Amino acid sequence: MLYDKKEYVKKECYLRPRNFYVRNIIRKQARAIAEYIKEPVKSRQRIFGIDACSMEIGCRPETYATEYRYIRQTVKNRRTFSWYKNLNDNFKSWGMTYHVGEDFLDIIDGLRAVDEAVKFLELEKGGRLGHALVLGIAPQEYYELKRFSVCLRKQDCLDNVIWLMFRALELNVSISTNYRAEMENFALDIYVYMGRIRSKREKIIFC
Ligand SMILES: [Zn+2]
Repeated sequence: MLYDKKEYVKKECYLRPRNFYVRNIIRKQARAIAEYIKEPVKSRQRIFGIDACSMEIGCRPETYATEYRYIRQTVKNRRTFSWYKNLNDNFKSWGMTYHVGEDFLDIIDGLRAVDEAVKFLELEKGGRLGHALVLGIAPQEYYELKRFSVCLRKQDCLDNVIWLMFRALELNVSISTNYRAEMENFALDIYVYMGRIRSKREKIIFC
């Protein structure tokens, strides 16, 4: 069915990406950084990296992906400018840091955030994860402290379970058949609940 775009815009019910407002803010910030560093002013070339953080809960690393790539490309382009090559103290490397795995509601959620930061922000050798506390958490103690309960949005639970199962497959980590079946059922229950499919019988294949 065709929809009236004006009507959608008026009612503000057209689709927006997740974290729409954050994306708008960081787009402006990234443009400002790019404008700043690509001018042939020596003092401006003393900047040799960026560091970003956000409220992690509800704002996944992919929100920053486009801007990280944009700045990385700006830096690459800058190296081709003759005025930049002639600077005595031009920086051969450009560092990128992203703070992740500091604030999370479940270990899997935090690990997924670290994984997403590396992947979507394309952090390379020399890139840095800020804090990444989740990497040093002892699961047994963590869940004991939380009395073995997890409080998460259903959407995040679904994403976590799917991520866990697929990464386990990719990295050849074995999960017992019982646990796998339990996770599949859990994911399907949420998926059905969210109204994406009518019943569990419709085809979803996890592996
Ligand atoms: Zn931090």
